[in-house]
Amino acid sequence: MKNRYSPIEGRAVELDDVDWVPFPDALSAGGIRWKLLNVAPELGSWAAIFDCPAGSSFNSHHHIGPGEYLLTKGRMEVRGGKDDGGETVNAPAYGYEATSAFHGKTYFPVDSEFYMTFLGPLQFVDESGGKTHALVTWDVVQHAWDGAQAA
Ligand code: ZN
Repeated sequence: MKNRYSPIEGRAVELDDVDWVPFPDALSAGGIRWKLLNVAPELGSWAAIFDCPAGSSFNSHHHIGPGEYLLTKGRMEVRGGKDDGGETVNAPAYGYEATSAFHGKTYFPVDSEFYMTFLGPLQFVDESGGKTHALVTWDVVQHAWDGAQAA
């Protein structure tokens, strides 16, 4: 139902109605798949669920805004994992990543799945954190998702 005070409508997504698609190889390794659940231009945010096979990882990135996740299955090594000053979390787990968090390599040692809301873009960079490879804003995410659906 439309909110009488706002032109913005809510939505609900039943996950089984959406097919997994490969997450771009330029941003990850090891066969990660994703489902885009929502973009909210009014917040600059986007929400997605990721299927991460054992041994997969996301390439180095900065969180330009904060993010919240719910690890629903498996294990995730964030900011280098526990052995390297970061965190290793086992499902079920919630986490908050602060603005400017640098994720050198987010790694999944076992089959894992997590939901995350991103407030603001992700800036993918080289391993040292210097050169920018991609700035992933909500509209870039929507465009990538639409392209995957058309393929
Ligand atoms: Zn991250």
